[in-house]
Amino acid sequence: MDNQRIRIFDLHCDTLDRLALHTAFPDVEFEDFVMGTPKDRLLSLADNDAHISLDRMQAQDYAWCQCFAAFIPDELNSDQAWAVFQAVRSYLQGQIAEHADRIEQVLDARNIRSIVETGHCAAMFTVEGGSFIEGTVERVHEIADAGVKMLTLAWNGPNAIASGHDTTEGLTPFGREVIAALEERHVVIDVSHLNDRGFWDVLEASERPFAASHSNSRAICGHLRNLTDDQFRALAERGGIVGLNFCEDFITEDLPATQDDFLRHVDHLLQLGGEHVLALGSDYDGCEVPTWLDPAEKIGTLHGLLAGEFGEDIADRICFENACEFFERNETL
Ligand SMILES: [Zn+2]
Repeated sequence: MDNQRIRIFDLHCDTLDRLALHTAFPDVEFEDFVMGTPKDRLLSLADNDAHISLDRMQAQDYAWCQCFAAFIPDELNSDQAWAVFQAVRSYLQGQIAEHADRIEQVLDARNIRSIVETGHCAAMFTVEGGSFIEGTVERVHEIADAGVKMLTLAWNGPNAIASGHDTTEGLTPFGREVIAALEERHVVIDVSHLNDRGFWDVLEASERPFAASHSNSRAICGHLRNLTDDQFRALAERGGIVGLNFCEDFITEDLPATQDDFLRHVDHLLQLGGEHVLALGSDYDGCEVPTWLDPAEKIGTLHGLLAGEFGEDIADRICFENACEFFERNETL
């Protein structure tokens, strides 16, 4: 490891939708966080007005692996949702081709370390919201073939697989088929956004380690998007990974979210045995983040904060190593 560089592995951002969908679907009104910025500054992954850009990830000599989600809005039907996935996918492919000297897609997680060592951004393609999977598991195989490494099963509402935290239904019978297909293809199951019943259903229906890519501790901030202590322990026991979310509303009920508020989550989850479980799941470009983390090049502040409070080793584990080891294991396990 090169000690001069801060290593970052971020399990979740919504940047691609903000950049891809203005031009792909000019007539559709997407969520505010997708539409909220002037489109002329939201075209290039290299340089833009979003939280995340290549310029920001390569500022200060960071070594950075970023999970880029294709976020699929709940209200779209299966085929519309699939069109969004394809649009985001082709945008990412186009940007990777255009900036091949700066970014590389992670097709095998065992290559992440070598990609970031060259100074390139390692881009892991993920999906948030599986509403395009309906009736058959064929699209699980298609996304696996497209290099998707993780699927957040649902967003806030219901789909054919499971239901988000706005609802109370658990995993559907078809959702169990989807879980089996995801595990067969080593696409990581992400339980962030699931309601509590859905979480426990996934634990029971799955065999492999899984992720909560962008969720905090509900004991510290009572939002339903955060994990209870029992959920965190069960996920940890399975060998899973949890990405700390920067969303102000998931950090504290008493805004603005301070550095101490964020550290309380880390401290609590470390006490629950999270030393090898905690990672980052910024939710950049999907929410309001504290000013001290906005935009993404300020992430070095967080690394320094964690190092000061918990030591360099824990800081590096949370910021990079735990997630990297998790996805390396996922290729072979
Ligand atoms: Zn989300």
